[in-house]
Amino acid sequence: MADKNNKYPENIKGRFYVDRECIACDACVMCAPDHFGMDENDGHAFVKQQPTSSTDEDLCREAMEGCPVEAIGNNGEAATISEADPESKKV
Ligand code: SF4
Repeated sequence: MADKNNKYPENIKGRFYVDRECIACDACVMCAPDHFGMDENDGHAFVKQQPTSSTDEDLCREAMEGCPVEAIGNNGEAATISEADPESKKV
C-alpha cells in the first residue's frame, strides 16, 4: 500500500501520488500517459497531472490498481475534504 509520507517530491500536488516503492516498470505511464510521467534520471514514476474528470480518474485508478508494487496512492494532499476522501462522495 502506497504511503503518502513516502512519496516523491516530483508528484504534482493532489490526491494521486507515487511513492518510493516504485520500480520504474512504466505500467502507469503506459496506462495513463497524461497523468503519469517517468523521471528517467532518478528512475521512478511520478504524477504529473491530477485527474479533472471521471474518465481521467478512472484511468488513474486503473494505473493504481495495475501497479505491481502498490506504489501509487490516492489519498494524498487534496484541495477539499471530499477529494481527500472519495468514499464520502458515495451515496
Ligand atoms: Fe512505478 Fe508502479 Fe508506475 Fe510501475 S506502475 S512505474 S512500479 S508507480
